[in-house]
Amino acid sequence: MTSIAANLQAVHARIAAACVAAGRAAESVQLLAVSKTWTAARVREAAVAGQRAFGENYVQEACDKAAELKDLDLEWHFIGPLQGNKTRRVAENFAWVHSVDRLKIAERLAAQRPPGNLPLQLCLQVNVSDEASKGGCAPQQALDLAAAISELPGLRLRGLMAIPEPTTDVLRQRSQFALLRRTLEWINAELDCELDTLSMGMSEDLEAAIMEGATMVRIGTAIFGKRN
Ligand SMILES: *Cc1c(COP(=O)(O)O)cnc(C)c1O
Repeated sequence: MTSIAANLQAVHARIAAACVAAGRAAESVQLLAVSKTWTAARVREAAVAGQRAFGENYVQEACDKAAELKDLDLEWHFIGPLQGNKTRRVAENFAWVHSVDRLKIAERLAAQRPPGNLPLQLCLQVNVSDEASKGGCAPQQALDLAAAISELPGLRLRGLMAIPEPTTDVLRQRSQFALLRRTLEWINAELDCELDTLSMGMSEDLEAAIMEGATMVRIGTAIFGKRN
């Protein structure tokens, strides 16, 4: 077995154990492999080991990799900061975007999603740690933004995403993840909708995220190793 295959197996075991601890079904948490900075060859290794969904932060890098791996049936997720001048390539080349935090960007993605493609699956990024340096809308803004985004063609709003402040304090991790979950519950109640995705949890904190209801964990280091 390659080290990537072994790492994937270990991550699946961590997810399964966290689901048991949280009283959840293991299938309720999807694994997104974050392949930013890693070559197409490493992504192929992960794909051969059964991984299908990959997360990328840089548009050019991701498009190059996707082109090289066209023979595989992979699902590409854009998870990095998104500027207006990059939206077209994202709308044309990705299945999901996790990092939308303002209406302007969602409007551009909607206008630029090629007709005939499936709707672009979208998560609204929320700043749950109140750090000025972080992307994401404030939790209080998430309802109005979700309502506006839901009206746009070519997109399907699926839920919320967060990158909490890095901390090894599990209670602190959990309180930030819980804020994202409560924000999703609030939106679902107010808009009478059923957003089903909580994109939260990375290599260091996936257990805390699953405890608080994560449905998609975004894992890089634990699968591919430490990035340079
Ligand atoms: C890099 C990155 C990850 C993966 O982080 P690891 O700690 O390597 O698992 C997850 N989400 C986002 C948004 C990232 O940029």
